[in-house]
Amino acid sequence: MTEHVQNLINGQWVEAGGDKLDSRDPANGELLATFRQATNSDVDAAIAAAKAAFPAWKATPQPKRAEIIVRSAEILLKRKEEIAQLMSRENGKPIAEARGDVQEAIDMAFYIAAEGRRGWGHTIPAEMPNKRMYTIRQPLGVCSLITPWNFPIAIPSWKSYPALVMGNTIVFKPAEDTTLLGKRWAEVLIEAGVPAGVFNMVIGHGAPIGDKLVTHPDVRMISFTGSTRTGLGIATKAAPLNKRVSLEMGGKNPVIVWEDGDLELAVNAVMWAGYGTSGQRCTACSRVIVHEKVHDQFLKMLVERAPKLKVGHGAEPDSFFGAIINEGQLKKIDEYVQIGVKEGAKLECGGKILKDGAYAKGNFYAATVFSNVKPGMRIEQEEIFGPVISVIKVKSYDEAISVANGVQYGLSAGFISKDVNLCHKASIDLDCGLCYINAGSTGAEVSTPFGGWKNTGNGHREGGPTVIDAFSELKTVVIDYSGKVQKAQIDNN
Ligand code: ADP
Repeated sequence: MTEHVQNLINGQWVEAGGDKLDSRDPANGELLATFRQATNSDVDAAIAAAKAAFPAWKATPQPKRAEIIVRSAEILLKRKEEIAQLMSRENGKPIAEARGDVQEAIDMAFYIAAEGRRGWGHTIPAEMPNKRMYTIRQPLGVCSLITPWNFPIAIPSWKSYPALVMGNTIVFKPAEDTTLLGKRWAEVLIEAGVPAGVFNMVIGHGAPIGDKLVTHPDVRMISFTGSTRTGLGIATKAAPLNKRVSLEMGGKNPVIVWEDGDLELAVNAVMWAGYGTSGQRCTACSRVIVHEKVHDQFLKMLVERAPKLKVGHGAEPDSFFGAIINEGQLKKIDEYVQIGVKEGAKLECGGKILKDGAYAKGNFYAATVFSNVKPGMRIEQEEIFGPVISVIKVKSYDEAISVANGVQYGLSAGFISKDVNLCHKASIDLDCGLCYINAGSTGAEVSTPFGGWKNTGNGHREGGPTVIDAFSELKTVVIDYSGKVQKAQIDNN
């Protein structure tokens, strides 16, 4: 049944004011939801509601805010299967991964709810007597949360829960391709008891309302996950206004397979990291850097297995990966494959849009492997965001690290070897925010800092204890109970 989605402003569902849009199952084109594009005045209303709700929410004790988050986890546990089933249709990812996506939000809820009773302040010894110093964390104010479609519940949870527990209020914009899941996310928070105005949602494409979400004087912070192009555009607009921006952007994540590495493990890890979620993860492995001694054997194993992976509708339990999110993305993947062929890489398997039979009405792409990929080729440098793996042969450790680090991104990397010393060395030498030893490039857990170096991020880490830093201001409190004026650096010397 088709659902209609509206903005959520000050606790009320209200029709957005712009053009008609819809959301469809990328595997078969089935219409799932209709909605309208939010307008700048809708965003103004959402920001005004968030601003008005801020003082009371800030004054709500942090453990009480956390209790609402626990209630939302309980709701998610009850609705996990239903939301996952919808995700396998609106996003296209296989049902097991969709359940994992919802589970990640449940994990995040329990993790962040515990922060409600911590707070991460420090007490600091003073230079002078009868003086006490400590730090506290306080909310920023209104936060704009802009999220992509690839983790339609998990990513909103990474941003919303820490923002809420720290006492911020929210204007959330889900990706246009997963608007119905955005509505589910809002429903869960409202049912859990998040007060009216504390969490608002505006829907539709980002470009028409992006400037408003970023530059409005009442927005203090923007948390964005998506493409590097959009993220850097947001940062550029926010910089002169001195707003806090937390960015999580593109990746071109390598897995290095060393000469002594377990090849069975390596092939399975690379296929999971490269083809899972159809390669549409920011941590997806798109480059495998293989020592020349095991290169041919590794490539043979990968090329034998990749074409056998089941590509199908997300709801079919045996699908290894599902549809590509939309037609534009499907075309972009195919264009990159043509570029790779022109650049002289060898197309070993896949390299085509799947159109026959069950694939006819959907956006499906075959599991693709390129060999003979050289550093500097566009398919080696640019984010493709699809099921395309490039295999690069190297002769030495230094060459492997130099190839791995030779891109503009630095999100995640894997290193597969039985040499414990080399594994430790690689964990230092790889330029990345997440380094996996004897694993692929994916698999973040909520309690670890998540984010990347170079053009992947801007230094903030969402996930782990660092997410609290991203969503709060730090204050140092100094209490002088000496009853006189004590001059720092002067009186005590
Ligand atoms: P992706 O390639 O993952 O779709 P995008 O950067 O295009 O990456 O989109 C990520 C999120 O950013 C989506 O919610 C999208 O609507 C939003 N977005 C796109 N353009 C803008 C913009 N100019 N300003 C703010 N948000 C935007």
